[in-house]
Amino acid sequence: MKESIHTIPANISFNLNDKIILITGATDGIGKALAKKTAKLGAKIILHGRNKKKLELLSDDIAADNDCQRPSIALLDFEIADLNSYIKLSDDIHNNFNKLDGLVHCAGILGDKTTIEQYKPEVWQKVLHVNLTAPFVLTQALFGVLKLSDSPSVIFTSSNVSKIAKPFWGAYSVSKFGIEALGQMLAHENDHIKMRVNIINPGAVNTKMRLQAYPAEDKDHLKNPEDVLYPYLYFLSDESIGSNYMSLDAQY
Ligand code: NDP
Repeated sequence: MKESIHTIPANISFNLNDKIILITGATDGIGKALAKKTAKLGAKIILHGRNKKKLELLSDDIAADNDCQRPSIALLDFEIADLNSYIKLSDDIHNNFNKLDGLVHCAGILGDKTTIEQYKPEVWQKVLHVNLTAPFVLTQALFGVLKLSDSPSVIFTSSNVSKIAKPFWGAYSVSKFGIEALGQMLAHENDHIKMRVNIINPGAVNTKMRLQAYPAEDKDHLKNPEDVLYPYLYFLSDESIGSNYMSLDAQY
């Protein structure tokens, strides 16, 4: 079901105390803003990214800002990671935290904006792998630790081109159609257990991906990453227990 930001209750003061939350793509854009905000709200964050230096700097920043322990780091390049790396991450989470309460998929790449006729197959393969196959493998690998939580929540990030295929969006759009299907399937397959699965389309947000997609655009009218976090916080918090499979636009 397509939902809007107005479908969920407004003006909640979220509390994420002691929730264990893994955020992919935490080193930039929406994932980074979400990591900072969820840490402020009391969550124990596991920061995922592919760049060790950026992860360490962010972990230091979050610890300094919140006077807390340095958040854990999950270094995994989705382009090249093998299955064992995902299993090791799951084992590490099990050993260190005993459970996972939240898994937020923010990592992604744009690929080329061109016609299907011109689209390079190697770029197509990379985009599908990073944006769709990696979230599938990661979710599957973390299923065991998610089920150890009392109220596990999985959130996927979709796009304005995840249900309507506009020209030139190529593999990116196809990957986001896939994310909608993956999220929907996962939600329905598990609606008999306590896990909830929801999908958020953040809409246009001023990040490096948006700049790559629209280099000449006037940035003044764009939302910043901090402006689209509300539905992520809602689905991570216990306020959303029972809300399984919404596909929600963060801005409309
Ligand atoms: P950014 O480009 O700002 O951030 C993307 C994140 O993904 C970075 O942390 C980046 O790491 C990480 N990443 C990229 N490739 C890999 C990889 N191979 N392995 C691991 N991590 C990787 O993007 P946004 O914040 O804009 O996008 C976040 C999500 O929101 C994406 O799923 C995007 O599709 C979606 N979205 C964004 C919109 C927008 O207008 N910005 C609109 C609609 C959807 P690094 O820091 O190392 O580059």
